[in-house]
Amino acid sequence: MIVYATHKGGRYLPMEESLKEQPEGRRGLYVNLTNRCNCACTFCLRQMKKMAEQSSLWLKREPTVEEVEAELDGVPWEYVKEVVFCGFGEPTERLEALIALLRYVKGMHPDIPTRVNTNGLGELEHGRVFASEFAGILDTVSISLNASNAARYLALTRAKFGEKSYEAMLAFAQHCKPYVPNVVLTIVDKVEGPDEIEKCRKICADRGLTLRVRAYEDS
Ligand code: SF4
Repeated sequence: MIVYATHKGGRYLPMEESLKEQPEGRRGLYVNLTNRCNCACTFCLRQMKKMAEQSSLWLKREPTVEEVEAELDGVPWEYVKEVVFCGFGEPTERLEALIALLRYVKGMHPDIPTRVNTNGLGELEHGRVFASEFAGILDTVSISLNASNAARYLALTRAKFGEKSYEAMLAFAQHCKPYVPNVVLTIVDKVEGPDEIEKCRKICADRGLTLRVRAYEDS
C-alpha cells in the first residue's frame, strides 16, 4: 500500500476504507516509499520478517515518483489534514523521490502541512548535507532520538554506520532548523525509563531542539 491512513489498533487502511470507518473529519495521509532502512531497530516490526512481509505496508516493489503522484491525485483531499512520509522503511533512503514528492504535494496543496518521519541518518547515508533542500516544502521533520547517548542508541537501532550515527542524527536535526519550521526529536515512552527521558530532554534543550515523548503504539 503506497498511501494510507492510520486507525486505532495499529491498523493501516486505504483512504477509501478509512472514510467508511470514519466518514467525517480530516486525517493524516501517510506515504510509504520504501521497505529499506539503514537501521535494524530492536523494536521495529521490520525485524520480524514474516510479519513484515504480511503487512499491508510491505512493498513488493518500490513505486516510482509518477506512481505515487497518481495515487495522490486520487485522494479526496478535503479529508486530509497532513501528509506524512513514513511507512515501513526510512523515507530518506529514497531522497530524490522524497524531495520530488514533497514538492509535488506542496505545489498541488500548499495549505496542507507536510511531515517526514525519519531516523535522521540520511545525511550519513548520502554523504552530504541536504537539509536546505527541504526549504519551503517541508513543515515538520520528526527524528527518532531513541536514546541519550551513542552506545545506547546503537544498541537499540543497530545502525549500519556504528557509533557515529548518534552525533550525525543530532547534527541533521540542527541542519534542518533554518529550513524546516518544526524540528521534533522523539523518544518512545515504554522503551526508555524516566531517567533516560530526562537526559534526552536536556540534550534537546541544550541544542534548542524539541523533544516529544511518544506512546509506544504510535511508533
Ligand atoms: S529506523 Fe525506523 S524503519 Fe528503520 S529499523 Fe528503526 S524503526 Fe524500523
